[in-house]
Amino acid sequence: MTATRVDADVIRRLPKAVLHDHLDGGLRPATVVELAAAVGHALPTTDPDELAAWYFEAANSGDLVRYIATFEHTLAVMQTREGLLRTAEEYVLDLAADGVVYGEVRYAPELMLNGGLTLAEVVETVQEGLGAGMAKAAAAGTPVRVGTLLCGMRMFDSTRETADLAVAFRDAGVVGFDIAGAEDGFPPADHLDAFEHLRRESVPFTIHAGEAHGLPSVHQALQVCGAQRIGHGVRITDDIVDGKLGRLAGWVRDRRVALEMCPTSNLQTGAATSIAEHPITELKDLGFRVTLNTDNRLVSGTTMTREMSLLVEQAGWTTEDLRTVTVNAVKSAFIPFGERRALIEDVVLPGYEAALCSSPRT
Ligand SMILES: [Zn+2]
Repeated sequence: MTATRVDADVIRRLPKAVLHDHLDGGLRPATVVELAAAVGHALPTTDPDELAAWYFEAANSGDLVRYIATFEHTLAVMQTREGLLRTAEEYVLDLAADGVVYGEVRYAPELMLNGGLTLAEVVETVQEGLGAGMAKAAAAGTPVRVGTLLCGMRMFDSTRETADLAVAFRDAGVVGFDIAGAEDGFPPADHLDAFEHLRRESVPFTIHAGEAHGLPSVHQALQVCGAQRIGHGVRITDDIVDGKLGRLAGWVRDRRVALEMCPTSNLQTGAATSIAEHPITELKDLGFRVTLNTDNRLVSGTTMTREMSLLVEQAGWTTEDLRTVTVNAVKSAFIPFGERRALIEDVVLPGYEAALCSSPRT
């Protein structure tokens, strides 16, 4: 394989892996409209195209808190068994259509209790929907494996309960844990009890850090809480001057800590200024274990194909770069080593060869 630039159609066919994607941020606009009508929830508009545009517009404020506020309308339709089954199944089918072969989906069960479901019922229902989606995707010849991360909310004091839930469902599709929500003012160390419990139970976790807040947040997530991966982590560049790494950036690179980077989302929340200058390119070139992610496909109006295409078009990425971040993601997935190795050797690498051999190179 030579260093090539690739067109969008080839990119769509490449096998992909996504580690950072929120279930409640990736619904189909038409599904939100239909489910909202069924439960009597008022939306800004009932036209699916206008709703998609509204999300992108509302999320484009340059402010993480306002970005998060747009989730009100997706969460409103995810409170019933019917809503959860449908959104989880469609989630998997949409990943498969995007060429994703491995995905980790995350959501906060405690935000889905308004319809009377218990925490355990929420997790069981989402797993049932994901399972139905995986069966359909496999039957259609586009198999995708999806693992679940349960999110605690950093502004609530219920993270230990969610950590317990992750431990309870570890053999039923849950592969790890995360904390999400507004970063500023809610340091991860406030949830040490949850993280220490997960470490004792050997359940891996990632933490949103270095998105709205800087290095202290990343430091706390890694060195106080013990996260194995970092959600976003764009501000790690504060610890890199003229290519020279400080202690924390050095730790992240040396220990192969995966950075779950989400370029379009970062533009929307003001964590980055452009695709061309997004830190993902510098960090990749410096040898960090960078991964590429969508964060919220509906809210950010994106897909993995789109994120890859943007980096190819605006930041000079090659096929090798796309393969590198894909292999990085599978290497740092929270599933067992043997499954990761099989995905890389049997799916990702042959998939790259096949997609590139069947297309004229530019
Ligand atoms: Zn996120």
